[in-house]
Amino acid sequence: MEVCTKCGNSKVIIKRKQSGQLLCKDCFIENIQKKVIKTIKKENLIEKGDKVLVALSGGKDSVALLDILYDLYKRRIIDLCAVTIDEGISGYRNDGVEIAKNHIKKLAIPHKVVSFKESFGLTLDEIMKNPNHRGSCTYCGVFRRWIINRVAREFNATKIATGHNLDDETQAILMNYLEGNIENLTKIGPKTVSKSKLFTPKIKPLREIPEKEIALYAIAKDLEVHFAGCPYAQTSFRGEISKIIKDLSENHPTIMYSTLRGFDKIKIAIKDKYKSEYKFEKCEICGEPSSNEICRACTFLKELE
Ligand code: SF4
Ligand code: ZN
Repeated sequence: MEVCTKCGNSKVIIKRKQSGQLLCKDCFIENIQKKVIKTIKKENLIEKGDKVLVALSGGKDSVALLDILYDLYKRRIIDLCAVTIDEGISGYRNDGVEIAKNHIKKLAIPHKVVSFKESFGLTLDEIMKNPNHRGSCTYCGVFRRWIINRVAREFNATKIATGHNLDDETQAILMNYLEGNIENLTKIGPKTVSKSKLFTPKIKPLREIPEKEIALYAIAKDLEVHFAGCPYAQTSFRGEISKIIKDLSENHPTIMYSTLRGFDKIKIAIKDKYKSEYKFEKCEICGEPSSNEICRACTFLKELE
């Protein structure tokens, strides 16, 4: 009979292919929480007294992240607030927004829901009707960052925490590598700090946890999450890369960890070579920090006019 490697409980909920470790529900939950705290300490992601803004979509990653950070909040180590972005993707985003609101009601922390429509006058669905669009995820990423950064300043947050997991990080590394985008590659990491004080540092406490284990954590803790995938995700390059990594992981269960570890070493070696020399000015149109006269969000909006 298979029993939990830590406590001997016979109700095993996970067998880790990469290490052979077996864990019961309680030991698994504790193990994930400890792993996240370990990443936070190792990478110096959070300091006592930080006000952390969680980018809360209602999906498993951000809900699990909020759940784990809430423990630090209860212990008065950090202050906590959250933002939910409504991109305007019909049949998909509304459920996530409702789930996010439900969590916030229970936890009673400050929260803002901000839509693309109110910020830019367009939903993502409307943008995608434009025949000259640049691809859903391009707009989504730029517009979302623009909103989150603003909300972070409104909340006086000192860190922005996102739910990026090990799969997301590995995909980003491989995508940029395969596209030869080495400068972008150097921007991937557990913490992004900009020279401009108008940008709040971004942190990824879940970057060493595989997506599957985050999903299992949400189930084990009985957290309400939005499991549906974005309807635009299938068409993206990221979707193709994700499939390749998943297929490879079947016979090589440590491949995502080794990709991340290898990349973290390469990054140290190349980061000085690609140090950004950007001088941040304020965008002439919206006033957000930008390395050009007009920021990317405003450039896209002009194109879409
Ligand atoms: Fe936005 Fe969907 Fe692309 Fe994610 S997959 S970046 S939600 S369009
Ligand atoms: Zn702008």
